[in-house]
Amino acid sequence: MAKEELECSFCGRKKPETSLLIAGLDAHICDRCIEQAHGIVIEESKQTGNSELSAELMLRKPKEIKGFLDEYIIGQENTKRVMSVAVYNHYKRLLQAPTEDDIEIQKSNIIMVGQTGTGKTLMAKTIAKMLNVPLAIVDATVLTEAGYVGEDVESILTRLLQAADYNLEKAQRGIVFIDEIDKIARKSDNPSITRDVSGEGVQQALLKLLEGTVVNVPPKGGRKHPDQKFIEVDTENILFIAGGAFDGIERVITKRLNMQAIGYSSINKESVDKDNILQYIIPKDLKDFGLIPEIIGRLPVLTYMDPLDAKTLRAILTEPKNAIIKQYKKLFEMDDVNFTITDGALDYIVGKAIEYKLGARGLRSLCEEILTEAMFELPGSGETKLNITKAYAEDRLNKSTLKKLKAVS
Ligand code: ADP
Repeated sequence: MAKEELECSFCGRKKPETSLLIAGLDAHICDRCIEQAHGIVIEESKQTGNSELSAELMLRKPKEIKGFLDEYIIGQENTKRVMSVAVYNHYKRLLQAPTEDDIEIQKSNIIMVGQTGTGKTLMAKTIAKMLNVPLAIVDATVLTEAGYVGEDVESILTRLLQAADYNLEKAQRGIVFIDEIDKIARKSDNPSITRDVSGEGVQQALLKLLEGTVVNVPPKGGRKHPDQKFIEVDTENILFIAGGAFDGIERVITKRLNMQAIGYSSINKESVDKDNILQYIIPKDLKDFGLIPEIIGRLPVLTYMDPLDAKTLRAILTEPKNAIIKQYKKLFEMDDVNFTITDGALDYIVGKAIEYKLGARGLRSLCEEILTEAMFELPGSGETKLNITKAYAEDRLNKSTLKKLKAVS
């Protein structure tokens, strides 16, 4: 083809009519067509949402999310279902194409109520792992109102930025787990008596983050670096999960149930499962406990954790993908030791965890107490087998100071 005959393969414009003609393998494209094509790409990606996220997330339906949770978390069926739907809706909200119907999907921030060691943190961690998004775990007890000793609520976002390696985009789609939210409940029913530093003020400050707002965040946190530049973080698309034991809330629930039983209600005293009162929790109970209504409104998904019984504890030891016993097996394997443990020994460990009220958190420390000796002696000894029986476990625990374990809880 002679040079002067070159033309855009898309619009047919001859080279002299274009400002730029780029050559491909067998075709050419002019500046105008490039711009038009670019416009189409932008439009398309707006319609289908952020491509990276959509590919990752739209594949996982609530049932698949739950399936993933099942691999790591034993029991807690209700919370797993509720979480799966909330997380699914949250990310659907992020991916929603701008439509003309003005329907704006609201955030599905979550609040989990359950005794310590029942898997609340694990739930948040597993969700973050599945979505491959950054997770910041913060303790509400260290938060204070601005101007008081302690951490400002903005520090939550500093943590999230750190978890995202300072990638703002990623942080803004991350998850924040606020533990011990119950500890910032209003202590007194009359908020005007004294300034409640640790309680209502922090709830008020948190409210803004939960609502979705742009916050100036000190990237290194704290007030120790007054010169540092702030990073503007938009919390609009951050998923907040709050958790707390809410010690004593059972009484609030029971009282309400009793009132309902007297009034017109389908609930009667006989049908109430007294071993798991938390399952009847409603938002009003959180209010009666001392959370302000605005906070409750911003954490619209309320769910509870079942208490862990012996059967569940036993399963936690051996079944999850990274179950404690599987971890020890792997550790011993690295020293060419075949590690086994009898059912009797496992039941014994569970029994001790219950006896000392250590819950799931205690399982690990009990195993450490029982196995440390072997983990010290076996490597390099030429021994290739280790079978832990109930008698062995009992012997090791009796030798160690059980008091230590009690302190763990
Ligand atoms: P919480 O946040 O409710 O206090 P965690 O999530 O920190 O409790 O759980 C404490 C420990 O117990 C963790 O090591 C966790 O792996 C384990 N654990 C608790 N509940 C479960 C569960 N349902 N399934 C598997 N492991 C659990």
